[in-house]
Amino acid sequence: MGKRANGANGGRGRVSRSESTRDLLFRQQTIRRPAAISGVGIHTGKDTNLRILPAPAASGIRFRRTDARSVEIRADMTNVSSLELATTLGRDDITVSTVEHLLAAVYALGIDNLIVEVDGPEVPILDGSALPYVRLLQAAGVRRQKADRRILAMTSVLEFKRDDKWLRASPYPGLRLDYTIDFAGCVVGRQRLQLEVDQRSFERELAPARTFCREIDVEQMQRAGLGLGGSVDNCIVFGDEGALNTGLRYADEPVRHKALDAIGDFTLLGAPIWGHFEVLRGGHQLHYELLRELVANPQCWTWVIGEELPPQVDPLPHDPQQPSAWTPLLAGPPQ
Ligand SMILES: [Zn+2]
Repeated sequence: MGKRANGANGGRGRVSRSESTRDLLFRQQTIRRPAAISGVGIHTGKDTNLRILPAPAASGIRFRRTDARSVEIRADMTNVSSLELATTLGRDDITVSTVEHLLAAVYALGIDNLIVEVDGPEVPILDGSALPYVRLLQAAGVRRQKADRRILAMTSVLEFKRDDKWLRASPYPGLRLDYTIDFAGCVVGRQRLQLEVDQRSFERELAPARTFCREIDVEQMQRAGLGLGGSVDNCIVFGDEGALNTGLRYADEPVRHKALDAIGDFTLLGAPIWGHFEVLRGGHQLHYELLRELVANPQCWTWVIGEELPPQVDPLPHDPQQPSAWTPLLAGPPQ
């Protein structure tokens, strides 16, 4: 798959793919059957029941507050109401918090259309990672729909700074992350992760990475009325010497979790994204700034539908030695 075609189009801007690969990339998907999970919200401390349901083509990812007149809130950047420590979506005074771990799993499994029912203001934190949501979606199964998916593909470099934070998005035929966190004066320190993101790499390298905070943040957070459901079961707390409450799943678990958060936040574009994203000292706010910059700079990207790649995107991998560079992204279950 993903061989470069020569001839007709001068070998540029077009790749030949088998029909099934094309379908994996460019057909919308939902889940096969409902599935449910329950747990506490990390910031509100409230117990919530969550149920995922199949949704019609082109309807997007929608949260439904079953305890509040069944108000629906689409997972879309225009509905972001807060980015403090977690991503919160809202419409009028009805909100759903901490959507990013579920959304990251939704993105990685290539789900375009989904209803997420919750009976409270926050999505369950579960173990603090996206892995339980990957499992939930897998239990629900993935179903292809009769509608084309479009992908937002970077066609030129978009770069911006916010204080000491920095982000650069470049053209790339897939999703590649190069993420650096820098917690100076804390044992977490500087960590960097480079990853070609597809369903398998997400499941193996990012999904299990749990949310974290510093010991000094805990009291401050709780005074601000956040982190009320935080516990040893759902959050890594770093003290001077290291993690206080749990062993680590990866030596660099924090940067992996930040990358996971980024994918969840990118989902608010409403479409998969192709690009190479270099992020320094990122967080929910910076991820959201990227979405705003994309809207403000439509000359930097294009929509890709079906087999056509934008002529500006070189379909050859940056590193020809890396065979994963053409792994289909956002694919459903392996065929
Ligand atoms: Zn997170």
